[in-house]
Amino acid sequence: LAAQIIDGKKIADGIKDGLTHEIAVLKTKGIIPGLAVIMVGDDPASKKYVASKEKTCANLGISSFHYGLPATVSQKELLELVDKLNNEKKVSGILLQLPLPGGLKEKEAMNLISPDKDVDGFGPVSLGRLIMDEPVFIPCTPHGVMKMLESCEIDPAGKHAVVVGRSIIVGKPLSLLLLRKNATVTICHSRTPNLKEICASADILCAAAGRAGIITADMVRKGCTVIDVGINIISSGKIVGDVDFESVKEKASFISPVPGGVGPMTIAMLMHNTVIAARIQAGSLT
Ligand code: NDP
Repeated sequence: LAAQIIDGKKIADGIKDGLTHEIAVLKTKGIIPGLAVIMVGDDPASKKYVASKEKTCANLGISSFHYGLPATVSQKELLELVDKLNNEKKVSGILLQLPLPGGLKEKEAMNLISPDKDVDGFGPVSLGRLIMDEPVFIPCTPHGVMKMLESCEIDPAGKHAVVVGRSIIVGKPLSLLLLRKNATVTICHSRTPNLKEICASADILCAAAGRAGIITADMVRKGCTVIDVGINIISSGKIVGDVDFESVKEKASFISPVPGGVGPMTIAMLMHNTVIAARIQAGSLT
């Protein structure tokens, strides 16, 4: 029997509907969530992501403030902008679109974002809170993955979860979130020699390597839940995930597609974090 397809767009729409209501209630109290987006240079993929995030803000009633900087901007000017936005009242959350053009120090800029406005959740305070099991802003993509599992009523407790990828943006925080939900977690990366065997023993397999089709059917146990985080543009121009969808869907019990899987969830969770930020700053986080 072919797997159940996890419809990320539908789940994300449900989350956004809830947020629309929450934002309307906040507005009656004079609280308007605002997201500042810093975009340096004109990388086409980044521009697309930023446009999509700003459109979602508009649909939900979140103010968005766009700061487009030229690729030639200095580190000092970038840091000055972050500092200004940290102190700007109408800005609840700050998003620094990555990657930054060469020459700019991403970590230094990210670390300057106020922990109360770190809606991407990549800063040291946010990640520290996550590791201490007291998260405030959970990184959006891993959070989206957890919401997908929850909406399919897949409880990670006692399951073997395998995460392929160990970045700060996806792999590491996702592993911690699965651990918080009592999964037994294995993290794989480019130096893992027996990737196939490890993946084949997973109950929940999350692919976040950024390698088109790296997860093939022979690496997936029958009945496994497969979440594909990867976004890869192949030579034909088509966008595909890390999972060989057509063959793996015949073995898995649940599978998320690309596009229409984790992508929409990431944006929904960014909006969720922006609303939390607005409430923190208004002193109304309960
Ligand atoms: P990174 O390039 O930062 O990390 C990739 C990770 O995969 C690294 O840990 C790397 O190992 C590991 N890896 C690479 N090749 C292999 C391999 N052959 N076998 C095992 N592990 C491997 O990417 P990100 O974490 O930022 O993103 C991962 C993917 O997710 C990308 O396709 C990205 O586009 C996508 N993405 C999707 C989002 C969404 O909203 N759906 C949001 C963010 C990212 P090592 O550490 O050893 O180098």
